[in-house]
Amino acid sequence: KAKETGRGKAYAYVPELDAERKQIATLEGQLRQALARDEIKPVFQPLVSTSTQRICGVEALARWQTETGSVAPDVFIPLAERSGMIDELGMKILASSICAAAQWGTLGLSVNISPIQLCNPNFVEGVVALLEKEKFDARRLTLEITEGVLISNPDQARRAITSLKTYGIKFALDDFGCGFASIGALRQFGFDRMKLDRSLVWGLDDSGSGSGVLSATIALATALKIPVTAEGIETERQAEALGLAGCDQLQGYLVGRPMGAEELEVLILRDRQAA
Ligand code: C2E
Ligand code: MG
Ligand code: MG
Ligand code: MG
Repeated sequence: KAKETGRGKAYAYVPELDAERKQIATLEGQLRQALARDEIKPVFQPLVSTSTQRICGVEALARWQTETGSVAPDVFIPLAERSGMIDELGMKILASSICAAAQWGTLGLSVNISPIQLCNPNFVEGVVALLEKEKFDARRLTLEITEGVLISNPDQARRAITSLKTYGIKFALDDFGCGFASIGALRQFGFDRMKLDRSLVWGLDDSGSGSGVLSATIALATALKIPVTAEGIETERQAEALGLAGCDQLQGYLVGRPMGAEELEVLILRDRQAA
């Protein structure tokens, strides 16, 4: 039965494919326009220390609000990558995140970087120039990258990482545990932090080997002196388990959703008063 539908598709779906292509082209045009109008903006999600329970940093996440609704980063980031807009989009997000975070004392700032940006020969220079212009302490900045680029362009990735690290910028390996990256890669490329993918965190809730794999992974990273952030923490139970397993930072809806700068500032104030 599946085969029948599969074969039928090649004929019956051509007009729809065409429509899909048109839709993507339209979306690409809208993204180009939104970018030119500075309508792609970051929101910020708090990172909380498991030992102090206080906010120790934020992750910037890009948002695109159109007249008809919001488009998810999982849609517009790949689109920007395919259509040559990611370098500009990425630098704009980095610039506006740095401007906002400049008001937040010594709070750490994490920004996601696309593999395409990291492999762009002008990237290092661009980031350094931006930090200088904004007088932003490089040691406050962490760049988050996913493992794909370590496999597709290991030499370029290593070069960019090594040179940005000399300025004091830190690197986090994002979404660890949902792909092929090994713990060894953390060390080889000089990562300062591992971010456990939420699929791994959620594996805790299934019966079976999930929690064993999780605690072994955290223990290995810790043995290499690489601190671990757990992503996607939604329940008290997860927060407690991940803290006990050795994560020094938690991120997730339980501790705070991604939010605008003003809302975050209120949270930071409250957090400091509670100390
Ligand atoms: P990421 O870097 O792994 O970011 C974490 C994602 O998990 C964010 O999704 C965040 O909203 C979501 N999240 C956080 N806590 C929870 C939770 O407790 N439960 C659930 N279900 N989700 C949670 P978002 O904002 O949709 O971003 C998706 C991905 O898009 C990011 O994953 C990142 O890979 C990419 N992205 C976002 N902004 C940028 C950017 O400025 N540049 C680049 N290159 N990529 C970006
Ligand atoms: Mg990230
Ligand atoms: Mg992640
Ligand atoms: Mg992700």
